[in-house]
Amino acid sequence: MNESIEKRELINRGKAKSVYATDDPDRLILEFRDDTSAFDGAKTAQLAGKGVINNRFNAFIMERLEAAGIPTHFERLLSDHESLVKRLDMFPIECVVRNLTAGSICRRLGVPEGMDLEPPVFEFFLKNDELHDPMINEYHIRAFHWATDAQVAAMKDLTFRVNEVLKKLFADAGLLLVDYKLEFGDYHGQVVLGDEFTPDGCRLWDAKTRAKLDKDRFRQGLGGVVEAYQEVARRIGVPLD
Ligand code: ADP
Ligand code: UDP
Repeated sequence: MNESIEKRELINRGKAKSVYATDDPDRLILEFRDDTSAFDGAKTAQLAGKGVINNRFNAFIMERLEAAGIPTHFERLLSDHESLVKRLDMFPIECVVRNLTAGSICRRLGVPEGMDLEPPVFEFFLKNDELHDPMINEYHIRAFHWATDAQVAAMKDLTFRVNEVLKKLFADAGLLLVDYKLEFGDYHGQVVLGDEFTPDGCRLWDAKTRAKLDKDRFRQGLGGVVEAYQEVARRIGVPLD
């Protein structure tokens, strides 16, 4: 592995992370910023300390997933805010698994929050803020050539394998993994997990009190957002300094 990586130009400034090229065409640097956004960018804020915690949280989870045999883009932490990752050709698709009802499924289907979903529900969304990330299915993905059938099968399989690993990891820390969103990309012909796994992109509730310990604290104006992320990190054993 190239130990001394050189940071090059900014490729993409997303809502919460910035992506930089490096001197290695197969490697990128992800910078986790303090910026927080919800409702497709309609609500934004800077939350001091969020970038650092999410960078470390993501590293910890990606390493656990890799250890469980799930291919991820994560290579190593570079600094408080930065991680080195493999450069993927991202699919414009979000893969969501739900173990309990919350968020958009409640609005869409008129069901109350907190119902157990057994078996879990899988949903695809198109990654497109202007269109508000519409729900899509495998026929859309096939017809618009967003991914091949084999890539779709791999994304579904990997997303459910992530559920098995992380449901247990969080349950052991007294937490319910309510739902989460994953993004995948192609790396030299292999479907690899990219982007991030942090409380910005999943829902985590205290198993006893059902207190929300994820980005819903920001969406719903509950306060204590970074403190909740730190609480989850502490409980699952993410090294924080
Ligand atoms: P958004 O695009 O939703 O505003 P972010 O602020 O998280 O999100 O921006 C990060 C961007 O980097 C996203 O577009 C994501 O798809 C992309 N990305 C994440 N991991 C990789 C990777 N390994 N290779 C290429 N692009 C990636
Ligand atoms: N999610 C995400 N980015 C998105 C949309 C959803 O990270 O652009 C996550 C969200 O945090 C939750 C899960 O995916 O953990 C399911 O989100 P949902 O469809 O309920 O949408 P929401 O109500 O969060 O808009």
